[in-house]
Amino acid sequence: MSKTFSMRILRGLSSRLLPCGCLAGIYETYDGNVVTILDERDETCRDRRHVNGNVLPDLCPARASQSRADSTRADR
Ligand SMILES: [Zn+2]
Repeated sequence: MSKTFSMRILRGLSSRLLPCGCLAGIYETYDGNVVTILDERDETCRDRRHVNGNVLPDLCPARASQSRADSTRADR
């Protein structure tokens, strides 16, 4: 086992390609939460938070309650 998470992953739900080029995986934990974990960091990505195995709370689909997404809308 090369990866160690602070939470226990129950199963993988899906994966998505981020706009920056990184590949993230959607996982369900034993606690019932859905987390997004970076699987493959792209070489051109400039986001320092995008490290393999890092949890990305911003992309958590289960808690998509962002009320200030009107001013800065980034389409594709
Ligand atoms: Zn990235």
